[in-house]
Amino acid sequence: MARVMIIGAGGVGQVVAHKCAQVPEVFTDIMLASRTRSKCDKIAAGIDRHIETAQVDADNVPELVALINTFKPDLIINVALPYQDLHIMDACLETGVHYLDTANYEPLDEARFCYKWQWDYHERFKAKGLMALLGSGFDPGVTNVFTAWAKKHHFDRIDTLDIIDCNAGDHGQPFATNFNPEINIREITQKGRYYEAGKWVETEPMALSKDFDFPEGIGPKKIFLLYHEELESLTHHFPEIKQARFWMTFSEAYLTHLKVLENVGMTRIDPVLYEGKEIVPLQFLKALLPDPASLGPLTKGRTCIGCLVKGEKDGAEKTYYIYNICDHEEVYKEVGSQGVSYTTGVPAMIGALLMLTKKWTGKGVFNMEEFDPDPFMERLNIHGLPWKETIL
Ligand code: NDP
Repeated sequence: MARVMIIGAGGVGQVVAHKCAQVPEVFTDIMLASRTRSKCDKIAAGIDRHIETAQVDADNVPELVALINTFKPDLIINVALPYQDLHIMDACLETGVHYLDTANYEPLDEARFCYKWQWDYHERFKAKGLMALLGSGFDPGVTNVFTAWAKKHHFDRIDTLDIIDCNAGDHGQPFATNFNPEINIREITQKGRYYEAGKWVETEPMALSKDFDFPEGIGPKKIFLLYHEELESLTHHFPEIKQARFWMTFSEAYLTHLKVLENVGMTRIDPVLYEGKEIVPLQFLKALLPDPASLGPLTKGRTCIGCLVKGEKDGAEKTYYIYNICDHEEVYKEVGSQGVSYTTGVPAMIGALLMLTKKWTGKGVFNMEEFDPDPFMERLNIHGLPWKETIL
C-alpha cells in the first residue's frame, strides 16, 4: 500500500524497521537509509522481509532529494538526530513527501528544545498539501496522545499535568545513556523549566525533585524536574492547563557521573581548540560512551512512562493516571533493542501507519495531540505498548 523511507539506523531506527516490517499490509516497501550504510545492512539482515538500504547524509539536501527521487517514498520517518530535522523537512517539501519525526529540531551549537523552527514550516507544508507529524515517539509522542485521551474521555477541564518518565532498567554499565548520548546530556544539563499560570518558571538543572510511587512493583523513586519539548505544544494546544511539568528518574550513580563530567567541562557543546583542531567536548564524550544500541542485550528491568492529570469532570474534582510499562528484556527478544528505543520506535511506526491509512490527515505541521487519540491508543495495545489507566 505505501512506501516508507526510514532515516537513521541507531537504536530507534532498528525498532522502527522491525515494527514497519511487521505490518506488511501498510508498509509494502521499506528503505532504511543512514549515514553509515553498514548499520542499515546489519539491521536489515535481522529482519525476515526485504528492506532496501542506502547511505545518505541527511544534512546534504541535494543528496537526500536524489535518494528520495530514486526510491519515491510516500512518507519519511526521521529517526536520525534532531539536527537533521529541518534538512529532511526541506527535502520533503522539494519532493512532495510526508514527514514524521520523534524529536524537535536542535541547532548544533545551542540547546533550545523548542518547536518554533518546525512550526514555522506550517504554511509551506500546507501549500504543498503535505503533512508533517512532529514528536511521534513516547515522550514527546504517546504522552501527548495520553493527554488528548484524558481530555476527550475523562475531563471537562484539565488543570494540572505531570508527565513522569521512569527508567527502572539496569544495563550494568557505570555510565551510559539510553538514547543518543549527545541529545540526552544536552536535555538533562539545561535549566529546568515548567509552566505555571501562563508563564514559564525556570529552575537550576535538577534543582526540584520529589518521590513518586510507581505502579506494578516498581515502587517509590526520586523524580527530577526537567524541561521537555511536549510541555510547549501541550500548553499551546490545551491553554486551559494551569500547570504542566515533566519529571524523570535518575540513579545517584548517574547523577554523580554527570556532575563530574559537567564540572570538568566534558558536557560543553561549544567547540574548544585541542592540538590545533576544534572539538566539541560533548561530541568527544559521545565517542567514548557505550552506543545506546549496544545496551539491548545488557538491559534488564522496566520503564514506566505516564501522565498524572488533575482537573474537573461533571463538576467534581478528578485525579487520573495513565501509563505504559515496558520490559527491556522482553522487547529485546522481539526486536533486538532495549526498552527506550522500543518505546520511541513503536509510536513512530504507529504515527506513520495512521498517516498512511488516512486515519490522521492534515495539511501542514502538526503535533500529536491535535488528532483523535482513539486510533493511536488502540494501536498501542496491538503493537506492543499496552497502557493502563486509574482514577486516584
Ligand atoms: P542514535 O544515535 O542511536 O542513532 C541516530 C542515527 O542517525 C545513527 O544511525 C546516525 O548515523 C544517524 N545519523 C546521524 N546524523 C545523520 C546524518 N546527517 N545523515 C544520516 N543519518 C544520520 O540515536 P537514537 O536511535 O537513540 O535516537 C534517534 C532519535 O530518536 C533522536 O532524534 C532522539 O532524540 C529521538 N528520541 C526520541 C524519544 C522520544 O520518546 N520522543 C526518545 C529517545 C530518542 P551513524 O550511525 O553514522 O552515527
